[in-house]
Amino acid sequence: MEAVERAFRALDEGIADYLARKGIRPSCGPGCFACCYGWVTASRLEAQALLPHLTEAQKARVLEEGPRRLALLAREKDDPGFSRRFFLSRSPCPLLEAGLCGVYAHRPLACRGVLTDEDPAYCDPENPHPAPKPHHGPGHFLRVPHRMARRRMEELWEEERAQTGFLVLGELSGLLYLLLTGLPEDREGVEARLEALGVLGGRFGFQVV
Ligand code: SF4
Repeated sequence: MEAVERAFRALDEGIADYLARKGIRPSCGPGCFACCYGWVTASRLEAQALLPHLTEAQKARVLEEGPRRLALLAREKDDPGFSRRFFLSRSPCPLLEAGLCGVYAHRPLACRGVLTDEDPAYCDPENPHPAPKPHHGPGHFLRVPHRMARRRMEELWEEERAQTGFLVLGELSGLLYLLLTGLPEDREGVEARLEALGVLGGRFGFQVV
């Protein structure tokens, strides 16, 4: 879990340094949570590091939402429009509590790298995006923090491979649900479980690599 904490610290410091150097002030803040309607992907290592910090209420919501998302994935994981449709469905992350991230200090890298300096109204799934600026992308989000997060993710993927011999990537709620209910340790077992659920591979499905 140390590697995960290290990656979080390195990303947060890197982003803070970038914002200070460029004089960029993100408009993200408490009560602003449209990005928590998104399809968040995490590695098993990150999800495992989050588990000990979940409250009983959060676990209960994951146990309810996880199977719902896995079933959705089994039906729609190969559909290119899936992620956009999911965002528009406004299904909040089960760790969102009264408009705030309930696991803020332990939230995944994917969440940490999503920042904007635009009007937060643009984050609403229904609203059209503004014309892109050079420091933006994807959409109106800040490009560099997004890339920094991706780089830290890739480091953690290597760490997971070094620890277990393979990497498991998947949607956060579904992955937490699988870990809470017992995901096998070995690669064959993991693949068999995901295959049986119909969520292995495809455009948005779980990856075992
Ligand atoms: S983990 Fe936190 S920041 Fe990430 S989507 Fe869930 S509520 Fe939002």
